[in-house]
Amino acid sequence: MADPLLSLVIPVYNEEALIDQLVGRCVAALAAIGPDFEIICVDDGSRDGTLPRLLAARAAEPRLKVLALSRNFGHQAAYTAGLHAARGRYVAMMDGDLQDPPELLPRMWELLCYDAHDVAYGHRTDRAEGWGRQVLIRGFHRIFRNFSRLQEADNVGNFSMLNRRALTAFLSLHEKNRYLPGLRSFIGFRQAAVPYARQARPDGTVPKMGYGRLLALALDALFSFSNLPIKICLYAGMSGMVLFLAAGVYVLASKGLGVAPPGWSSLELSIYFMGSIQLLFLGILGEYVFRGYRENQNRPLYFIQEYFND
Ligand code: UDP
Ligand code: MG
Repeated sequence: MADPLLSLVIPVYNEEALIDQLVGRCVAALAAIGPDFEIICVDDGSRDGTLPRLLAARAAEPRLKVLALSRNFGHQAAYTAGLHAARGRYVAMMDGDLQDPPELLPRMWELLCYDAHDVAYGHRTDRAEGWGRQVLIRGFHRIFRNFSRLQEADNVGNFSMLNRRALTAFLSLHEKNRYLPGLRSFIGFRQAAVPYARQARPDGTVPKMGYGRLLALALDALFSFSNLPIKICLYAGMSGMVLFLAAGVYVLASKGLGVAPPGWSSLELSIYFMGSIQLLFLGILGEYVFRGYRENQNRPLYFIQEYFND
């Protein structure tokens, strides 16, 4: 079979309640572009009825392909698996929880096809999510934009469409700690933003990415795209030095004046201070060493259980 014009990659993890609605809305949105598309749903090791639901939907809609991973690898790895399987000249990626409206895909496609852009990405102007989550996510984006030196990194997620040229560049980045919006911004090319309001999950369920996973993703982004951790190290170290010198002058002066040496408690305090600062630095250095180690292991990002295509 010839390669399709457009591939849509969707990672899903325990989303059984949403599958039918998801497939229905995506098929309708893509049909507005043309009949020649494939939807690749990557089942990221779901433990509920997601896979059977997908296969049932596939029986009715053969343009839906289902890529089942051998276990849960996390949604960045699931996206990457789907992108490698995608054959389309244009390739879109979208979360499977309908927080990103598939109805925006035709607009993205126009930007690529008629407007000579290589990448179109969703830019979130509004989020229907809990305020705690919103505050944290906005804070992260602000820090990331300031320290990563990446232009389009503000309030963007995975929702986007790339042409082959941009996708080839994107997939040539093999790092294991993947923050996809950062990688997509990193490749450059002509990129266009499509503003949209991020929806609440239609079924009102909790996000599959808990705060722990969001934090891990934020750390991946900051460690691999910025030198903020090293800068914190450097500034803390420099301030520590200044304090240390000032304390040294004080100790020498008090000694010269014959005043009694500082007591046990201040000594104890300074030991704690130096000890904790050194631990902090060791931790940050350790993070970099660990990341280097993991990149060198060169493990595959994912394994495919089965690909239900033709
Ligand atoms: N997801 C996945 N693997 C996981 C966690 C999530 O494939 O281990 C999928 C999930 O089904 C959803 C998308 O990734 O389609 C985004 O997840 P979520 O909505 O939890 O993240 P958020 O909206 O908070 O970024
Ligand atoms: Mg979501």
